Amino acid sequence: MEYKISKTLTKDSKLSSVDFNNIPFGKVFADHIFIADYDGKEWNNFEISPLSRIPLHPATMAWHYGQAIFEGMKASITDNGIPLLFRAMDHANRFNASATRMCMPEIPVDLFVESIKQLVNIDKNWIPTQEESALYLRPVMMAVDEFVGVRSSDTFKFMVMTLPSGPYYNKPIGLLVEEHFVRAADGGVGEAKAAGNYGASLYPTKLAKEKGYDQVMWMDAKEFKYVQEVGTMNIFFVLDNVVLTPNLSGTILRGITRDSIITLLKEKGYTVEERPVSMEEIAKAHANGKLLEVFGAGTAAVIANVDRIGYKNVDLKLDIDKAVLSKELKRDINGIRKGRIPDTHNWIMPVYEEELALL
Ligand SMILES: *Cc1c(COP(=O)(O)O)cnc(C)c1O
Repeated sequence: MEYKISKTLTKDSKLSSVDFNNIPFGKVFADHIFIADYDGKEWNNFEISPLSRIPLHPATMAWHYGQAIFEGMKASITDNGIPLLFRAMDHANRFNASATRMCMPEIPVDLFVESIKQLVNIDKNWIPTQEESALYLRPVMMAVDEFVGVRSSDTFKFMVMTLPSGPYYNKPIGLLVEEHFVRAADGGVGEAKAAGNYGASLYPTKLAKEKGYDQVMWMDAKEFKYVQEVGTMNIFFVLDNVVLTPNLSGTILRGITRDSIITLLKEKGYTVEERPVSMEEIAKAHANGKLLEVFGAGTAAVIANVDRIGYKNVDLKLDIDKAVLSKELKRDINGIRKGRIPDTHNWIMPVYEEELALL
């Protein structure tokens, strides 16, 4: 379907004020935003405009009851200047899965993709060309009925803002196995990118940071035995003959980076086991010298190496010099995203159809 998107462009671009070699993550926004409104029946008012504050009533439902979801995806630019989206359809579909779980309206996949294409095209000069850098895209949907009382909102806002971003973690991270607080239980909303999941993670993460770790490693909510994931990343364990990652059980986020990594590993001939992974098994592999690498996988960082896991008052230490597979995977994914490595999976999408021919 054709969507008519009205456009008002800024006369006051902030582009020249940004040092692209040193971009603090999450704080620097490109010039424009896409906004659409859901009126209870359908999506309308498609608009790209200069990013600005939006006035909202104090009883805006999202703030009170957490009916809000988001996505995180990336646009890159090839060496000859073609903007590319990475796995845009997969992000659109996951956004809609989150929407359904949170009783929110789906957004047509073609509208989701088209709005992002047009937005990225307008702000293409904001896509960093530096290595491991990209334009981070943040679609978000929130409940905007002005109402006090718990029910689903009828009206919603969908917005996409974009942020130039550099390398996310420049150091390996330390994880603390969490044996008291939980992120997600069976039947909960762990699989949705729902705002409340992140609010709930802050306090345990603060306690972990006070103990000197960077992130919490979440465990299953029944026995605290099986690993779920970390922060905003899925987790992988490389043993000497196999790669382990927790299966999609409904309590972990269905990571698109996770899926990309599993696909690439299988193509490289590795055995990947998606199954419940117990911390006991990981500690045993570590004790036997079989645990070679541990890494988190998510859009923002792509891959974050882990050099320490705090488990039952002991630190399982990992030698980052041995983390060769994760470095290779990161190079592959970044290479595909920038159009330097042939995309054999249909993961990249040029912002314009005509640009396909130039790839
Ligand atoms: C977004 C997210 C991930 C990673 O998903 P990607 O699609 O790879 O970006 C993993 N875990 C959580 C909790 C997340 O929010």
